[in-house]
Amino acid sequence: MTKGGCPICGKPVAASYRPFCSVPCADLDLQRWLDGDYVISDNGVIEDVSKPADR
Ligand SMILES: [Zn+2]
Repeated sequence: MTKGGCPICGKPVAASYRPFCSVPCADLDLQRWLDGDYVISDNGVIEDVSKPADR
């Protein structure tokens, strides 16, 4: 049962680090988030739309 503990390690949450218990846990969750969902683009190419498409 989760009693409002840290989602990373399950320890009691510290008010200053909510919803985590400490900085390392918040950091770890951020890393996971960045690795998983934060994808800008597959090819990483930003096309210049101001260029004429037909040359
Ligand atoms: Zn934690």
